[in-house]
Amino acid sequence: MASQSTAIRRESSTVSLKKTPNDFVFGRQIGEGSFSTVYLARELESGKEYAIKVLEKNHIMRERKSGYVMREKQVLLKLNHPFFIRLYCTFQDPDRLYFVMSYASRGELLKYLNKLGCFDERCSSFYTAEIVSALEHLHGLKIIHRDLKPENILLNDKMHILITDFGSAKILEDTEVNNGINSFVGTAQYVSPEVLSSKQAYYSSDLWALGCIIYQFLSGLPPFRGGHEYQIFQKISKLDYEFPDGFSDVARNLVEQLLVLDPTRRLGCTDMGDYNPLKNHEFFTSIDWETLPDTDPPTLL
Ligand code: ATP
Repeated sequence: MASQSTAIRRESSTVSLKKTPNDFVFGRQIGEGSFSTVYLARELESGKEYAIKVLEKNHIMRERKSGYVMREKQVLLKLNHPFFIRLYCTFQDPDRLYFVMSYASRGELLKYLNKLGCFDERCSSFYTAEIVSALEHLHGLKIIHRDLKPENILLNDKMHILITDFGSAKILEDTEVNNGINSFVGTAQYVSPEVLSSKQAYYSSDLWALGCIIYQFLSGLPPFRGGHEYQIFQKISKLDYEFPDGFSDVARNLVEQLLVLDPTRRLGCTDMGDYNPLKNHEFFTSIDWETLPDTDPPTLL
């Protein structure tokens, strides 16, 4: 099983477990999901800023999303790593549920990618390393994200990543072997071939998504594209993608070792020796894995 980074730490929380909405001053809306609204809020006692996700109970029941919401809470409470959104506490009133989370003040990584077109190799390597470090922790806790994509990678005030959106995640029970989790979840461009063919998700389904993300960092677009989901799925199943001119040999080699149809042959998966062979890839030569959370991220270029 993957070793957990020594960089793991948990700040002591100043938020007690018995908070109510009255303990916070709610500010502007910072985002909206299909059944949630996220507000910037300041805790009265500490003056600290949080992102509070507010969910209407009626809406969740109507949309039959209580499983999704419960899973998100369950996973967030297990996580203990600087590269994930932290859930400080939850509370409720008769109509709503409230999730008090760390505030990712710089928003989605996708915003920067769209603005710049693509990232240079140094930035791509740095942000890929942060995702790898986060995935090592997640898989070490026997959790598969199942919907990893640039929209779900937020940034804190220091421009380090905070991975979010665990509603689709799967927690494997202690005794459970990762024989594949049977249900279709994810986003078309990042979905793995095994999920398409048999609806089975493995830890390495997240490594497939990682391959798509690295390609997107360096080229600006995900590798499998099409006008309709069906076309995208056809391309994924046939591993039908091309590298644009200028894609370096080192980055290409890494992507090719992640975008492998057989989930047991992807770099970073258990059958391939877990995370060390992935972390030792030449693409990460400039990365100091131990100090990554305390390293100043390179300016996005
Ligand atoms: P859906 O539920 O439809 O899949 P979602 O998962 O993006 O959408 P939310 O988790 O409610 O829904 O997030 C809505 C938006 O709020 C996100 O797009 C994100 O940009 C922003 N957001 C969510 N959490 C935070 C946070 N902790 N800090 C800053 N912004 C956040």
